[in-house]
Amino acid sequence: MARPTVAHIDLSAIRHNLEVAKAQAPTAQVLAVVKANAYGHGAVAVAETLAGTADAFAVACTEEALELRESGLDAPIVLLEGVFAPEELDIADTARLGLVVHGEDQLRWVLDARPNSPFWVWLKMDTGMHRLGFAPEDYAATHSALRGCPHVGEIVLMTHLARADEPSHPGTADQLAVFRSHAGTLPGPFSAANSAAVIDHAKARGQWLRPGIMLYGATPFGETHPSAALLRPTMALESHLIGVRELDPGEAVGYGGRFVCTAPTRVGVVAAGYADGYPRHARDGTPVAVNGKPSRIIGRVSMDMLTVDLSSQPEAKPGDPVQLWGDRVAVNAVAAASGTIAYQLFTGLSARVPRRYLRA
Ligand SMILES: *Cc1c(COP(=O)(O)O)cnc(C)c1O
Repeated sequence: MARPTVAHIDLSAIRHNLEVAKAQAPTAQVLAVVKANAYGHGAVAVAETLAGTADAFAVACTEEALELRESGLDAPIVLLEGVFAPEELDIADTARLGLVVHGEDQLRWVLDARPNSPFWVWLKMDTGMHRLGFAPEDYAATHSALRGCPHVGEIVLMTHLARADEPSHPGTADQLAVFRSHAGTLPGPFSAANSAAVIDHAKARGQWLRPGIMLYGATPFGETHPSAALLRPTMALESHLIGVRELDPGEAVGYGGRFVCTAPTRVGVVAAGYADGYPRHARDGTPVAVNGKPSRIIGRVSMDMLTVDLSSQPEAKPGDPVQLWGDRVAVNAVAAASGTIAYQLFTGLSARVPRRYLRA
């Protein structure tokens, strides 16, 4: 039998989560973010599932876009960082890719290009993230240069929010105010809303939502936020027990002996480790489910295995199912116990883990 570690992906849950995003702003269009292999879920399968419901798809680079085009996806695709070199504009033209334009180099490349069809441009303003985007003072002039260019079509007015996942943080309102004061009178649809803003910042929603993580069932606000209950988990990372043993008080488990038993302890060994993308930094106590029942990580996670506490399950035996995250173990809870975020767990799921799709 093959190694039992598998990621089960529920495509109908992804569709449900898109509907949750749409319900927040029924008149807005949705750019479904499927970069990084749809946050580890498989970009082609996710795009096929959402084609017809999402208005467009967003990726990080032309390689990701071409994978979708080659799969037959016809919907608009946007490159979230635009192109990295002028030659890539030929690919964008041929494959009909929309482009973020975030800086002077990209602006020049676009103006100098001679595409067969006009570019769909997402013009980015830096309103406070201080990563990419034109300075607010330069934005209107840049917009006007693009508008005057015969091979530029529609221009979407765009910015990105740095702190939308902090519910009462004033930074979001400040960023939106900067945007309004420098672009409020320019023509074109407006887009600022990542998942956190889709859920919690009505004023950021504009004409194009850009949900990512929420499509994959994880709220950016953590599991205690009410939005957690609206979203359905989309990925269940599962494996089996491959070994069980009883340890005495004082005996330690795994590398470095991090967990030392204080009582007689039944320990289960699970066939999943950090080479699968399970976080090595998972602390003792990180939740898992064994036979559908709550358990916890004890001892350091190794490359291909990890160890769990079976003290409350004296019947547990090799072959029994273990869920590392999914419908019984919130991915956000695993992330919090490991000092990371669901985004990193999903995108870090390694190629070694087969994805199995539950179709609608
Ligand atoms: C990744 C990304 C998003 C999606 O963010 P989530 O927090 O996953 O919803 C939206 N906009 C841009 C520009 C991005 O790069």
